[in-house]
Amino acid sequence: MSTATHEETLGFQTEVKQLLHLMINSLYSNREIFLRELISNGADACDKLRYQALDNDGLYEDDSELRIEIEHDAEAGTVTLRDNGIGMSRDDVIQNLGTIAKSGTAEFLKQLSGEQQKDAKLIGQFGVGFYSSFIVADEVTVRTRRADLPHDSGVEWHSQGAGEFTIADIERAARGTEIVLHLKEDAKEFADDFRLKSLVRKYSDHIEVPVRMPSVEKDDEGNETHGWETVNEATALWVRPKSEISEDEYKAFYKHVAHDFSDPLTWSHNKVEGKLEYTSLLFVPERAPFDLYERDGARGLKLYVQRVFIMDDAEQFLPLYLRFIKGVIDTKDLSLNVSRELLQQDPQVDKLKSALTKRALDMLKKLSKDEETYQTFWNTFGSVLKEGPAEDYANRDKIAELLRFATTHTDSSTQDQSLASYVERMKEGQQKIYYIVADSFNAAKHSPHLEIFRKKGIEVLLLSDRVDEWLMSHLTEYDGKAFVDIAKGDLDLGEIEDEDEKQAQEETAKAKEGLVKRVQESLGEEVQEVRITHRLTDSPACVVLPEHEMGFQMRRIMEAAGQKLPEVKPILELNPEHALVTRLETSDGDAFSDLSRILLDQAIIAEGGHLDDPAAYVKRLNELLTV
Ligand code: ADP
Ligand code: MG
Repeated sequence: MSTATHEETLGFQTEVKQLLHLMINSLYSNREIFLRELISNGADACDKLRYQALDNDGLYEDDSELRIEIEHDAEAGTVTLRDNGIGMSRDDVIQNLGTIAKSGTAEFLKQLSGEQQKDAKLIGQFGVGFYSSFIVADEVTVRTRRADLPHDSGVEWHSQGAGEFTIADIERAARGTEIVLHLKEDAKEFADDFRLKSLVRKYSDHIEVPVRMPSVEKDDEGNETHGWETVNEATALWVRPKSEISEDEYKAFYKHVAHDFSDPLTWSHNKVEGKLEYTSLLFVPERAPFDLYERDGARGLKLYVQRVFIMDDAEQFLPLYLRFIKGVIDTKDLSLNVSRELLQQDPQVDKLKSALTKRALDMLKKLSKDEETYQTFWNTFGSVLKEGPAEDYANRDKIAELLRFATTHTDSSTQDQSLASYVERMKEGQQKIYYIVADSFNAAKHSPHLEIFRKKGIEVLLLSDRVDEWLMSHLTEYDGKAFVDIAKGDLDLGEIEDEDEKQAQEETAKAKEGLVKRVQESLGEEVQEVRITHRLTDSPACVVLPEHEMGFQMRRIMEAAGQKLPEVKPILELNPEHALVTRLETSDGDAFSDLSRILLDQAIIAEGGHLDDPAAYVKRLNELLTV
């Protein structure tokens, strides 16, 4: 046996320590997943070797039969996993088994609260990986050698999962990795043949690499022969015919590719032959990954070319607004030596991308038939999908069908109404789809602009997500009906209003011309225009923006991002029926200018805007209240 040299004791990165601590305490009821994670790593390591061996046969070292082996020793209380995959160098080991490289990890760990159940779910989204060994083991030893390094470049890593690990150089003839778990007192149950076999079948049937366990066969005379038995199915799941794959197998496979704990909401498995040749298996997760909004968060599909694993996170096959979709693409249309750089230039990739985008949108469309499940999807990923119309103009009609909104029809803040259902409820003569954008649901719901719509019973979409105004600027129509922001431009309800109403409005406007002129003079530069409106029933005034002006929400976002925007002056609209407006008409001097100013400031506040000089507003208002 060799002796270890160059032994060092190193501390885990802080994030690893935190994760280990939380994981060990939170995942108690889900302990068996350690096996899935370790088999999954072994399978990844075999995939990587196979890929690198494409242009360097020597890596196989006369042992090209890739496999994972699992052994146990009930007496010693150990479980050992072994793979003959790519293995790790000393630096690899320090990097991979001592740190967490995912971006956003520190952020993620801050969200954990110490509440077991909640944390277990969050950790599931994060993906626990190798460190899950410590859920069942109080001592872990890893021995490994990288396929392209000499035998004396083996490495032994050892840790008790607390703050540190030791690492040493060893002699190791076999390439690949061996992990020995010394089971905790209360986890000894895993050192059991039956238990291990059933877990391998449960979690790893779909993995193409065979997972083997020792077997003993007795002949008629009672002589024993020891050998190996392949426990899993060992064919790549997506290659098998759909009809032969059970729901549970799809779900287990999802957990493997997505590093997720929960079941997927739905999936779509397709084999295509013809101009393009590919097999795709796409999943919609139930929960958002922790790095959904990270700039460099993991996204994309696992790419295979003719069944050979090429890379994880190939993000070239789906647009960004579908980045939550997980799965596999296996194609004959790319060459085996394709790289990330080459993918960007290959015209086949664009074709595959548009085909997969259609598949994904169709899958979501199908999911939307089940309203309850779709709502779960929408609540989690709706705001990502809303990036769609801007990113993917060609598919914007399909995306529009998938959008959900809060509206005045339901009065709940849940975004649960489709445009199709809005159109069904449209009033006789209504030709447009009306919406309002505000900073919060309540600001939208209580906006004065809605008053006339309430009175007439016309539904309005209530938009309050940060991306909503951006979204609407890329959606011009749905089902031939234009979208109209009711806080912009002149209000034209078209045929919903009859001729008599229109005439009455014109007459009022005429009668109030004098008032309008006085207010305009009094407010001067503060406003672009003053006019009489019929859109209000309860409020005395409101502000609107010119039709093609950027809305208030987008302005605030851009200003917050440090953009300097030219000032826009609002249009002030007055409700001629309101008592305050009548009072305005009969006042003059300071009383008139103060009240005009109060009406303008109030209208801005009701819109969610900020006053330049709020103290002056309060002072004017108090004076008015005390006369
Ligand atoms: P992930 O698999 O999501 O990358 P893990 O925590 O499971 O995260 O593993 C961390 C890294 O350790 C892997 O990315 C891989 O580089 C390395 N690793 C783990 N197990 C093995 C193995 N059996 N063979 C080679 N490398 C491994
Ligand atoms: Mg892993």
